[in-house]
Amino acid sequence: MEIIRGGMTVELMHPDFMNPNDAESSSRNGKAAQMNINGPECIILSLKRIISHVRYMGKRLYILLQVAVDHEEKGSRGGAEGWEDTSKTKGWSPKVVLAHHLVGHIESWAAKNNTETLPARLLAFLFPGLDYPLTSSHGFCHNDSLPRRLPPNVTPEAFQAFISRAQSIVGAENVTVVDPQNPLEDGTYMDNCKAHDMHSVYERDYFVASAVVAPRGVSEVQAIVKLADEFIVPVWPFSAGRNVGYGGTAPRVPGSVGIELGKNMNKVLEVSVEGAYALVEPGVTYFSLYDYLVKTGLREHLWIDVPDLGGGSIIGNAVERGVGYTPYGDHFMMHCGMEVVLPNGELVRTGMGALPEPGNVPGLAPHEQKPNKTWQLFNYGFGPYNDGIFTQSNLGIVVKMGIWLMPNPGGYQAYMITFPRDDDLSAIVDKIRPLRLQMILQNTPTLRHILLDAAVYNPKSHYTDKNTPLSEAEMDEIAAKLNLGRWNFYGAVYGPEPIRAVLLEAIKAAFLTISGSKFYLPEDRTEENSILRIRSDTLQGIPSLDEPRWVDWLPNGGHLFFSPIAKISGADAALQYEVTKRRCQETGFDFIGTFIVGMRDLHHIVCIVFDREDPEQRLRARWLMRTMIKDCAAHGWGEYRTHLALMDQIANTYNFNDNALMKLNETIKNALDPNGIMAPGKNGVWPAGYDKEQWVLGGEEEWAPPGTQAAAATKD
Ligand SMILES: Cc1cc2nc3c(=O)[nH]c(=O)nc-3n(C[C@H](O)[C@H](O)[C@H](O)COP(=O)(O)OP(=O)(O)OC[C@H]3O[C@@H](n4cnc5c(N)ncnc54)[C@H](O)[C@@H]3O)c2cc1C
Repeated sequence: MEIIRGGMTVELMHPDFMNPNDAESSSRNGKAAQMNINGPECIILSLKRIISHVRYMGKRLYILLQVAVDHEEKGSRGGAEGWEDTSKTKGWSPKVVLAHHLVGHIESWAAKNNTETLPARLLAFLFPGLDYPLTSSHGFCHNDSLPRRLPPNVTPEAFQAFISRAQSIVGAENVTVVDPQNPLEDGTYMDNCKAHDMHSVYERDYFVASAVVAPRGVSEVQAIVKLADEFIVPVWPFSAGRNVGYGGTAPRVPGSVGIELGKNMNKVLEVSVEGAYALVEPGVTYFSLYDYLVKTGLREHLWIDVPDLGGGSIIGNAVERGVGYTPYGDHFMMHCGMEVVLPNGELVRTGMGALPEPGNVPGLAPHEQKPNKTWQLFNYGFGPYNDGIFTQSNLGIVVKMGIWLMPNPGGYQAYMITFPRDDDLSAIVDKIRPLRLQMILQNTPTLRHILLDAAVYNPKSHYTDKNTPLSEAEMDEIAAKLNLGRWNFYGAVYGPEPIRAVLLEAIKAAFLTISGSKFYLPEDRTEENSILRIRSDTLQGIPSLDEPRWVDWLPNGGHLFFSPIAKISGADAALQYEVTKRRCQETGFDFIGTFIVGMRDLHHIVCIVFDREDPEQRLRARWLMRTMIKDCAAHGWGEYRTHLALMDQIANTYNFNDNALMKLNETIKNALDPNGIMAPGKNGVWPAGYDKEQWVLGGEEEWAPPGTQAAAATKD
């Protein structure tokens, strides 16, 4: 049946799992459709069980009714039971229940199509004479399964209504309720789980989402955010969801709804060779942008910067202020211009993007408007610079972002310098500082501890039978066996040959004064899986998947990153190394780590590897993190980024002048997100509606290093 009213087409059909994209299936099912064209009243009266799917296709609303005549046929808790329950509990007639069910879908569709009066008109058409109050809260869920965790203060009915409405916005195939019957599978780095942390430090079902919703475009992100605001359901946006070591896809507040941006929003929108930038959607990963450049022949002109692993999202990594290793290694520094959905669903473009480009076609939705030609060229625009508040924050969802790409430098050479002694660290770092400040070290080099490299080659069991931390002598032995140093420095020089030659000469002249140090080029390292050869790809922006092998240092390897910032000063770095290494070892873990050289700082990344199936090791890992945070704060060191479990504790260490920064963050949060729906608790910022004291984690780790007074007290 096709009825045209007010410019809209309504089709009522009865196809068993009919695919509205498929014209052939549509005509095949024509007969079934005929059966149900006597009007909704006829349908509802003849049904024992109804599961409905609502799909939108352009300006067309399809209401697909799948009818199972035998009530017992499917056994599971299907939609009809929910409908019957509603009918019973509310005392509504089937006709009202049908109206109740459809209204949420119709409203969302109408909102998307800017047809405010449509729901009332449509209902009047479908149900003449029906007195039904048209309010948003009347949506009802046909998918009535309840999740493993409900969002806080959300009833099962409200959750179901939310899900039903979300399905109507993004399509049922893009909504997944986290079923309590199914085990939480971790997946792998590339095939990652979407609703929990694959490297859980608590039980897997603590940081767990209630559902995951994957919008298909900016307007759907806006509609989902508005829906969450209406139902006061917390949401947790993520892009590729490969934030492993910092929480993965898991939300801070259990039961939040994950918004998976990467599944459907993964287009490279523009690459400009002239401007040397790309404009991307959240699902564009390092792999996919690299492949795009190779396929289009643009890699000849432009290089990307990649982190150790290529599966991350360019937007996800930059908003976390992640790092890579070419001269463009500071990803937030190299971003330029954002398009952001605010917690009220409004869309903003930052920087020059706020200035409309002349010649836009009137009537286009804001996200479709042609961007300003300087959006990706100048970061700051006019007035307060806002981009920073959308990083490591809970103030918006970044749906487009510009990223600067590095013009092909015209030549490249990776190298490694090994240093034989553990206590060479201080001298090495003091050599790094002037070279980096003067840009003789052009890229973001790394100084890696021997066990990080050893772990990329082999698991711990390959080197030893013991399960306690390796001794200094054992680490020396491993270094000798692998022909590596106790510290190994990986860098690269960029540019035509004469420039590279001069730079390499200066670098060698500085570092090779440290006794026993050795300089290598990739071709000097013939061993299988040579780390220098892996780094040689990474340092020229070729994404890879080799690094996670160090996570398998222990069986069932899970990991957490502890990431304090240090001065590029030998004394500071050596002290930070000493403090963190001692804590790792007293907790029974090996110290595995690296110093990433920023513009004027060291990002010290301590990689805590634990057996994620062993609750005692998880407890120790948490204790270790919490203790190192305190230790570092006592020295004036703070972390640049962290796992969900540690966010509150770290935020509390940034407490200058009676927590003035947190007060500012909370003021902005409450102003932009009065209902507190956007990633509550992210980086320790809680909205006013949450009792922060109740939500803060920590202090429950009853563990102490063996032999200490605290350990004795714990035993008693
Ligand atoms: C072996 C190993 C090596 C690693 N090396 C590095 C490294 O060299 N450098 C590095 O930086 N990291 C590294 N990581 C950490 C991590 O893998 C990367 O940072 C990865 O890029 C983050 O995942 P993602 O990009 O998929 O982000 P996502 O998981 O998609 O997002 C991370 C977080 O950012 C926020 N977010 C994401 N998208 C949006 C959005 N569109 N709008 C608003 N907020 C959003 C959310 O809070 C989300 O939880 C490493 C991890 C491992 C296991």
